[in-house]
Amino acid sequence: MIKVKTREEIELMRESALIVSKTLGEVAKAIKPGVTTLQLDKIAEECIRDQGAVPGFLGLYDFPNTLCMSPNSQVVHGIPNNDPLVEGDIISIDCGALKNGFYGDHAYTFPVGDISPEVEKLLKVTKESLYVGIREFKLNNRVGDVGYAIQQYCEAHGYGVVRELVGHGLGEKMHEDPEMPNYGRRGRGKKFIEGMVVAIEPMINMGTQRIRQHRDGWTITTLDNLPSAHFEHNVALVDGKPELLSTFAYIYDALGIKSDEEDEFRQEVLVL
Ligand code: MG
Ligand code: MG
Repeated sequence: MIKVKTREEIELMRESALIVSKTLGEVAKAIKPGVTTLQLDKIAEECIRDQGAVPGFLGLYDFPNTLCMSPNSQVVHGIPNNDPLVEGDIISIDCGALKNGFYGDHAYTFPVGDISPEVEKLLKVTKESLYVGIREFKLNNRVGDVGYAIQQYCEAHGYGVVRELVGHGLGEKMHEDPEMPNYGRRGRGKKFIEGMVVAIEPMINMGTQRIRQHRDGWTITTLDNLPSAHFEHNVALVDGKPELLSTFAYIYDALGIKSDEEDEFRQEVLVL
């Protein structure tokens, strides 16, 4: 059952989302060759708690840490460890926070130093596909419209769209209805209604769409060990249109990037 949110609840969800956004910005400042994913995890936990929230993933389904850290061929759900990041790596960082009874949950894939042009293109296309998908999250469209748009966009570049893992509704639970696959058929699936909040999160592989799970019960890796990218935003359906609750602006601030990619999905200017 889809739980729609009131305007007040959507503002509370924006607060939770922005706590995650700010946390990813703090983590972005510390990403460099030599840093370990466990060190980044500590930065994130502290940043979330400093904002009066609690880490959303820690203990959820017994996940052991604050961040899901998935380098290179890992797709999602990687567990932070003491391995240092290396120049040329990419690292998908997924973060959740809970405040006022509502979750924020989003993700960004970062380059570590200089990366190859092929991998840079994978990151670019995957992030673009996130916005291609968000654009379809509007009144009277359906779940399949978002999935179809993301799938077409990524497959046109020869990439594999992961099937087993999907986006989701978001609210008082981390995972609510509906499931939001990154593949699908136009006009199929549940219809979008005013007040819905979803996490849209393409997980896109450079090679095969196929994946495997590690023995730790968490880490997901591409079957061909080629790189995988993952970007996620939290979006509410307001006045019939997609309204971004999360932002990558803190990340871009940390990395010195200028971007207006989010402007079309925001009714008011975001003040950081
Ligand atoms: Mg996430
Ligand atoms: Mg999610």
